Amino acid sequence: VQGSGQGEALIERLVGELARLPGIGQRTASRLAYFLLTRSCAAISPQGATRQAEDLAQALVDASRGIRLCVTCANLAVAEQCRICADPRRDRGLLCVVEGIAELRAFEASGGYRGIYYVLHGVLNPLEGVGPDDLNMTHLCSRLRDVEEVVLALNADVEGDTTALYIAKMLRDHEVRVSRLATGIPMGGELEYMDAGTLARALTERRVLH
Ligand SMILES: [Zn+2]
Repeated sequence: VQGSGQGEALIERLVGELARLPGIGQRTASRLAYFLLTRSCAAISPQGATRQAEDLAQALVDASRGIRLCVTCANLAVAEQCRICADPRRDRGLLCVVEGIAELRAFEASGGYRGIYYVLHGVLNPLEGVGPDDLNMTHLCSRLRDVEEVVLALNADVEGDTTALYIAKMLRDHEVRVSRLATGIPMGGELEYMDAGTLARALTERRVLH
């Protein structure tokens, strides 16, 4: 068939992009690609064509153009600073270091935290080659003005521990108290999925490292 090579290349490119997403292997990427392409193809379902692929593509373009990272904490933002950093009622003396946006949102949803954040966008993972330069880590020291305490709100797993130790060491020469969430949270339990009460308790019962 004429042009089939070109078609293969188009499909391969889509599968390749999907496979780069976290938690999506080659097989899932292929299934998603076929799903999106057939759902968008009016010939397969003339009545029920959903144009899902184009809707998805448009949502991606709109969101990635309209959303950026806060210059202060790297949270998602529509302006230079996110809503939290721009809020004068937040306590600038308390800074919570989190792995990602999901964890930040979990803390916000718990309702008990009134400080500010710093988002790492990942954790250290030497085995997979993720070092400090691969994360939003180097700017942390320049964000400590007015900060009295840094809470390392990272998961209680190997990567979380490694990252917390690294940052605690990095902050040793700064005039800030450094603490970690209470160990009452279950080992290996992920902050992202913790209920509001458990999160709030882990925060209020945090322990000081130095
Ligand atoms: Zn911010």
